[in-house]
Amino acid sequence: MQNNNVYEYINITNVLNQLHIKKTSVRGNYIYAICPFCQNSKEKNGYLKVNTINNVYICRQCGSSGSSLDLYASEKYISTKEAFKRLLRETPVLDNMPYTYNNPVKDEYYRDMVYRTFLEMQKLSDYHYKKLKEMNFSDNYIKDNQFKSIENNNDNKKEICIKLQEQGLKLDGIPGFFQDTDFKWNYKSHKGIFIPVTLNNKIQGLRILLDEKYGLDTENVWFSSNNEYNGTKASNWPMVLKNKSINWIDMYNSCTSESIIIATEMILAHKLFNNTNKTVIGIPNNIDKDLILNLVKRMNVSEVFLYADKYTILHTSSLMYENTIQALEAQNIKVDFRIALTETNIGSDLNTSEENKKVA
Ligand SMILES: [Zn+2]
Repeated sequence: MQNNNVYEYINITNVLNQLHIKKTSVRGNYIYAICPFCQNSKEKNGYLKVNTINNVYICRQCGSSGSSLDLYASEKYISTKEAFKRLLRETPVLDNMPYTYNNPVKDEYYRDMVYRTFLEMQKLSDYHYKKLKEMNFSDNYIKDNQFKSIENNNDNKKEICIKLQEQGLKLDGIPGFFQDTDFKWNYKSHKGIFIPVTLNNKIQGLRILLDEKYGLDTENVWFSSNNEYNGTKASNWPMVLKNKSINWIDMYNSCTSESIIIATEMILAHKLFNNTNKTVIGIPNNIDKDLILNLVKRMNVSEVFLYADKYTILHTSSLMYENTIQALEAQNIKVDFRIALTETNIGSDLNTSEENKKVA
């Protein structure tokens, strides 16, 4: 089963094919088939209505209904657990029917609504609170930015998803969420802290500061659910952190900040903003020249402090840095390139120099 996604095995069209259930017609996302519980195979009109998107069936005559696993289990007189096991043994035979694998991402208004509600349902553990305090963040900063620990208990996770849906929120198209093998909504588990990525007052996505490094020694990943059933891939959204007294329109339209900071990771961006109170752009894991230029051009900036975190230093070609620096300099922007080490008072030298300038 290495080559197939698990959802192909439990796809309802595969189950119909494995059980040799006769299909009588296809309309859109629906297949009509002979009900194995109340019809004989010689009948012409099938009463079994199969929804290939939701992976469920219902018989319009005898009323039997359920998921693809229920269909297989009932037909074979076995448990759904056993049905799942048996389906995994056979090569899936899928019909060419609509079948959602990766969803298109919902717009920023919707994502913001879901993520804010979702974060309210997450707690902050003592361990993570201490970790954030060690990074010099105040209680208010932690609260205002909705830094939360990720709930990883499977039952609690599904409960949270149910609560979100009860509030009328749909989870398809929201990176991080997917439908589990029981077709209940769930979200990806990670041990770490959610760092909401905000732009124009809206949460674009959730970045995760991991407790332990994953492969390739990264400490940060996106909350993403690509390649999961009904899952959604996160994009590399940028974040802008700015003083609350500057509104978004002013920031883009007038000369609000002469020098800004660009940081290659979200937690680094927060540390720098917290320590300097300058406008900070967070761009995770990559130096995207066009993205940086696009944001910086709108801000009327004369100087950029470009802070690269260790991971980006190790995994980005020097050519990309050079290109970005050159592109910024071509806009008459002075660039100071800095490598961010792990100390907590990072960026504090920027304030000192500002102070010195004022004195001078
Ligand atoms: Zn029936």
